[in-house]
Amino acid sequence: MLKKTAVQKISDLAAQLMQKGTLIAPVREDAGFNFREISDAGQVDLNFYNTLMSPKSAFFPHMEDFVRYQTGKSVLDAVPVEISIKPAFLFGVRPCDVKSFEIMDIHFSGTGAVDPYWQKRREATTIFGYAFDLNTPADGADFYATLGIGAADPEGSDVFMMKKGDELLLKAVTKKGEKLLAEMSGLTDASPEDQKYFDETVATGRSFKTRLTCVEAKSIAKKFEDLFHKTPFWERISDACLSCGICTFVCPTCYCFDICDETLFGQGTRRRVWDACMFTDFTLEASGHNPRTKVYQRLRQKVCHKYSYHVRKYGVISCVGCGRCTRACPVNIDIFSIVDQAMKE
Ligand code: SF4
Ligand code: SF4
Repeated sequence: MLKKTAVQKISDLAAQLMQKGTLIAPVREDAGFNFREISDAGQVDLNFYNTLMSPKSAFFPHMEDFVRYQTGKSVLDAVPVEISIKPAFLFGVRPCDVKSFEIMDIHFSGTGAVDPYWQKRREATTIFGYAFDLNTPADGADFYATLGIGAADPEGSDVFMMKKGDELLLKAVTKKGEKLLAEMSGLTDASPEDQKYFDETVATGRSFKTRLTCVEAKSIAKKFEDLFHKTPFWERISDACLSCGICTFVCPTCYCFDICDETLFGQGTRRRVWDACMFTDFTLEASGHNPRTKVYQRLRQKVCHKYSYHVRKYGVISCVGCGRCTRACPVNIDIFSIVDQAMKE
C-alpha cells in the first residue's frame, strides 16, 4: 500500500497520530534537531538532515526509575514503578537509525533475558522511517553505505516515507503500518508513477555515496583482535580523547547503563541511567582496582566492542555509520578513520 499527502499537510498527519497515542518526531531546537514528544502538531519538522541524539531514547530513556522505597523500612515495602506504555509513533527515523533498533533488540530481547522496558515500548511503537534526500550529498561524517545500509532502505520500518517534490509518499511495510495507513484520513492513493519513483529511490539509495571503506565483518573483527596488543596504534588514535563520553551518548547502538540509588529525606529511588565505557570510572571495581585507567584502553574498548567482540558474539557489527560520534566529538576523533587505519595496518 502506497499513499501520499502534501508535505505542507504533515501537521494534519501528526495531529491524527497524536489522537492515537504519543508522537515522537524531529523538532528544530537551538542546537539542531532532536526527537521530542510532540505537544503541538505544528512542531513536527521534516526539514532536517539527522538529529543530534539518536532516537534510541524512545525505547531506552536516558534515565528511568524502577523502584521507590523509604530508607530504614523493609525491602518488602519497596514499590516497583509501573511502566506506563501507550501506543507511540516514532516519526521520521533515518534508515541507519532504524537499523540500529535491530542491533539493540539483540541485547534487550534477543538473548533470552528480555528487558520489559525496552520490549514493551518496541511493541507499542510504530516506526515511520524516512529516506535521506538523495539530491543532497551525505554529511561528511556518515558512512552507513560502508555497512551496507541504503539511504532509502524501508526494511525495519512499519511505514516508510520519502519526499517527492511537494508530496510525501508513505509506504506500508508491515501489517501494523498497513492497518494504520488504512485508518488515516487525508491520505490519497499513490499513482503508478509514484510507485515507480518510490522503487527507484529505494534502489538508488543503495548506491548513494557516503564515506566508503572495505569492511567485512569477520575480517575487521579479526583485524582488531590482531591489533589489540599494539599499544602504539591505540595511543596514537586516542591521543586527543578527553573521555567526555559524548560519542557514546549520541550513538544509537550504545546501550550501557548504570543502576543507581538516590535518596532524599528518607525517600529512595532506584533507577537506571545511561553510562559510557569512555568514562574513567566505568570499570572501577569495589576493590579500587580499575582495569582501564588509560584513555587508549577505553577507546580501544569502544571500537573493539563495536567492530570485533560484537561480531564474534552476535555476527554483526554494532555500528550503523550514522556519523553522530564524529560530528559530536569535541576533538574530531572519527571512528570511520580508526576502522580505515586499522584495515591498513
Ligand atoms: S559508533 Fe558512531 S557512527 Fe557508529 S552507530 Fe555509533 S554514533 Fe553512529
Ligand atoms: S567524544 Fe571524542 S573526546 Fe569525547 S570520549 Fe568520545 S572520542 Fe573521546
